[in-house]
Amino acid sequence: MTKEVELVLLPEEINDEKAIWRAASKALHLSPDQINHVEVQKRSIDARGRKVVYRVKVRVFVAEDHTPELFSPVYNNVSKSKVVLIVGAGPAGLFAALRCLELGLKPVILERGKDVKQRRRDLAAINKEGVVNPDSNYCFGEGGAGTYSDGKLYTRSNKRGDVNQVLKLFVAHGATPDILIDAKPHIGTNKLPQIITSIRESILAAGGEIHFNCKVTDFIIQSGVFKGVRTDDAKELLAESLILATGHSAHDIPYLLHKQNILIEAKPFALGVRIEHPQYIIDQAQYHTADRGPYLPPSYYSLVEQVDGRGVFSFCMCPGGIIAPCSTEPGEIVVNGWSPSKRNNPFANSGTVVQVNLEDAPGSDTDPFKLLKYQQEIERLAFAAGGGKLVAPAQRMVDFVNGRISADLPVNSYLPGTRSADLNTVLPKFIHERLRKALPVFGQKMKGYYTNEAILVGVESRTSSPIRIPRDKVTLQHPQVKGLYPCGEGAGYAGGIVSAAIDGMNCADAIVRTKN
Ligand SMILES: Cc1cc2nc3c(=O)[nH]c(=O)nc-3n(C[C@H](O)[C@H](O)[C@H](O)COP(=O)(O)OP(=O)(O)OC[C@H]3O[C@@H](n4cnc5c(N)ncnc54)[C@H](O)[C@@H]3O)c2cc1C
Repeated sequence: MTKEVELVLLPEEINDEKAIWRAASKALHLSPDQINHVEVQKRSIDARGRKVVYRVKVRVFVAEDHTPELFSPVYNNVSKSKVVLIVGAGPAGLFAALRCLELGLKPVILERGKDVKQRRRDLAAINKEGVVNPDSNYCFGEGGAGTYSDGKLYTRSNKRGDVNQVLKLFVAHGATPDILIDAKPHIGTNKLPQIITSIRESILAAGGEIHFNCKVTDFIIQSGVFKGVRTDDAKELLAESLILATGHSAHDIPYLLHKQNILIEAKPFALGVRIEHPQYIIDQAQYHTADRGPYLPPSYYSLVEQVDGRGVFSFCMCPGGIIAPCSTEPGEIVVNGWSPSKRNNPFANSGTVVQVNLEDAPGSDTDPFKLLKYQQEIERLAFAAGGGKLVAPAQRMVDFVNGRISADLPVNSYLPGTRSADLNTVLPKFIHERLRKALPVFGQKMKGYYTNEAILVGVESRTSSPIRIPRDKVTLQHPQVKGLYPCGEGAGYAGGIVSAAIDGMNCADAIVRTKN
């Protein structure tokens, strides 16, 4: 017999098996020796009351043995199977490849960047020298934009596919099983490279292929049917199906499609700044205590406010994190954020952004590149305001709201450096004005948030793709090109690691469906 029950535990009890058994037996009015096993199914922090507690859903095995469920995928060899070309080794491309293995198809991944290990050198050059390699950076390379990220795995994509399957695949490749039970699971930048390497090893061991330093530069399409791709080292690879998973920063891909008269569309995205506070301010506000102590993790927030008919919202919050320079070309500033698994840096950052619609940008509404050009223009303005070498323009929070250039800037985590600037000269007026109105309101919602100890760093511009590559809702193929499956964040169908991974798997499934 099993029984399910919700327990309320103190932070110091959350990793104490005996305390969990005691609480379970008390809740079910059983003596501890009547219980064979207690399985934690979900756990979340509840900081609504004066005392912060964990709410833990457990399944209690009473007079019944518990057999642990081990998920260890076994893939058959696909080296002689039908090839599926996959462009991009981000979460969408890698999970599409894993799904191809399950389905008996041979994935051949083409990735313009380097493997996770070699990629590190290019990240060091970005952080220390402010030099960007356009093929190897925080967005491009093995694991895509997801590798050197926070690895937050929360998503609203439950309707799009099996979130749990993605989490189980991460665990099978080395992620902590905690991600299966945490309400807000995350992996951390230090752990992601080993997991990505393990996924690569699964793909190769089953007879799939991954080609690094291999940039797709052309599509071979005849009479509306996909035939193959050309790469920058003059190779031609032919196949019936292509999963195009090149991410939101591969600007050359939509231009290549447009050149061949293949339909693409401008898509709204969001733009703003990265905001960083000392972590203790966030902990104090959320946990209502001067010191969170040794048992609670660094706290997070999620804020939203409607200003003049449009939402201003925080996203991709990284407790204990670092602001990352995520430009993919020289001459532009793009910021984002990451955290290590322990989230033990002294700062907390989040993107704080406003939606950009078609009518906000200059130019013709029929130009599919209208919003991409607008995004690039703002990133270049930010670069100029920083003064070069990826130094980012920045302002203290209260100074920003009061329209004052900061006399100095607080110590912060952005490694290439920050320069005091008027962000009004970088951000479009409709974004600047809304941020100015929203930040004091966020301060009313969260004590301590509105402070000059916080820094705004510009610009958070790659929140999602400013272009959509259309596809049929059922076949997932481009309406004009049979065999072309636009996939993941770059095509406009995902907004994070889990949703990109799910979209990759869905595209692989669609290939099999189409063939039947
Ligand atoms: C610093 C940072 C932190 C983030 N933190 C989180 C987080 O905590 N949680 C979360 O859910 N999301 C996070 N994200 C967003 C997340 O990483 C992306 O949503 C996700 O990686 C998108 O997956 P994708 O596979 O669609 O595209 P990408 O991950 O962008 O992968 C696309 C791949 O295609 C390759 N490519 C591009 N053009 C070509 C070409 N012509 N030929 C060959 N290869 C090509 C690129 O090199 C890249 O590797 C973060 C992003 C960044 C940059």
